[in-house]
Amino acid sequence: MQKIFLQTLFEQFEPAIRQVYARAVSEAGLDPQTVTLELTATSWRLGRPEAEFAALADPRRVAITWNGIASLWAVAHAVARVGRVMFEAQRKLSREDDRRLMLTDYPDAETGLLLFILSRNLAKQDFGHWIVGGWAPTPTVQSKTEDDINGNAIFLLALDWIIRHELGHLVRKHLDENGRLREDHFRRELEADETATKSIKGAHAPDPVRPAGARPAAGELFLESAAMGVFTGVVWISQFECVPHAESHTHPAASDRLMKILDILDLREDSGALEIVSYAIKALIDPQGRWPDGSDQPTALDAAREAAIQLSRFIQSNR
Ligand SMILES: [Zn+2]
Repeated sequence: MQKIFLQTLFEQFEPAIRQVYARAVSEAGLDPQTVTLELTATSWRLGRPEAEFAALADPRRVAITWNGIASLWAVAHAVARVGRVMFEAQRKLSREDDRRLMLTDYPDAETGLLLFILSRNLAKQDFGHWIVGGWAPTPTVQSKTEDDINGNAIFLLALDWIIRHELGHLVRKHLDENGRLREDHFRRELEADETATKSIKGAHAPDPVRPAGARPAAGELFLESAAMGVFTGVVWISQFECVPHAESHTHPAASDRLMKILDILDLREDSGALEIVSYAIKALIDPQGRWPDGSDQPTALDAAREAAIQLSRFIQSNR
C-alpha cells in the first residue's frame, strides 16, 4: 500500500514509538507478541486519514493513525514552546512590572499557538506536504534546539499515556462490555484514564517534605516528566472540545478527566508540570488574553485547578 505523506515524514519516530509501546504493554501485563501495535494510514472507525488512537478486539490490538502521531507531535511541540516561554517570562518579572503576561508578546510562544492550530488540522485532514512558509519546526528525531528536544520528549511521554489509556480499555475488558449508555461510556473512559495514569505514575511519589521551590530529587522529577506527558495528552484531547458542538456521547469532558487525573497524580503544589498545563490550557482557550500574574492563584496547583475550571466553562459554553 502506498504510504501517506505523514507516514513518510513521521516514520523516523517509529522505533521510539514501538519502544514506548513495548514497555507499556509489558507493564500492563499483556503479551506484546499477541497484543500488537498497528500504525495505519486511515482511521479504523472512519476509513479516512484522521487522528485515531483505538483499542480494538479480535485480535486485541492498539491502532494509531499517522495523523494521530503527527497531531500529537504538534501539540507536544506547542506545549514545549508555550510552557518554556511563559515559565521563563513569569520568573523575569519584578514586583513593579505589569505582571499580566500576554502570549502574543513572545514570538516563540506564537509559534506554539500556531502549532496548536496545526495539531488540530493534522488530526482532521490528509496532508500532501509539510508546512510552507518556514514558521513550523520540521519533524526530526535529531532535534538540536531546546524546544525541539523538549517537544520530542513530551510527544513520547504523551503517547505513552495515550497508549496506556488504550491498553487500559483492554486490561479492564471494556471491549467485552455491552453497556451503550452515556454513563457506561463515561465510566469506561475514566477507568482507562485511571489505569493509564496510575501505571505511568508507578511507585513514584512527590517528596512531601521538600521545601517549596527547591529542586525535586530523581523520583519526583520522573513523576514531573510523566505528568507533562499525561497533561499534554489531556490538552491534545481538549483541543477538540474547544470548538462548537463538540459534546461527546462517549467521552467525558476533558476538564472532568483532568480534575480526576490531578487527584491521582497528587503532585506537589509548586509542580512545574502543573504550572505548564495551566499555561497550555490558557493558550488554548484565551490566547489573546492578558493572563493574571498568579497572585490570585498562589501555587501551581491552584493555577492548574483554575485552568481546569476555566476549561470546563469554555467547553460548556461551546455546546
Ligand atoms: Zn478511551
